[in-house]
Amino acid sequence: MEKWMSKTEWLLCPVCGNKTRDKIWADTELRNFPLFCPKCKQETLVNVKQLHISFIKEPDAKTIICENQSSRLSALFVFIYKSLLLIKALVTQKEAAFS
Ligand SMILES: [Zn+2]
Repeated sequence: MEKWMSKTEWLLCPVCGNKTRDKIWADTELRNFPLFCPKCKQETLVNVKQLHISFIKEPDAKTIICENQSSRLSALFVFIYKSLLLIKALVTQKEAAFS
């Protein structure tokens, strides 16, 4: 029991089985950790508990990525909309000053 407490292991890539640059301890706990493989350049979400690694299925990971992208995109649209409102306000002010 004491032996594995001080044990460290390299996280292995679930795609190609290669060693990644991330190490885990016996007491390392990870949840939805984006594990990046330097060999196949793939990022996989993993859960780690007591040196037991489980991988989150691809479709779920893709959904999370898509959600992030769409929220970023809507933030961009809000920014553009606000900028347009500001420009419109400035133009209206200028027109008011000339007349
Ligand atoms: Zn890999």
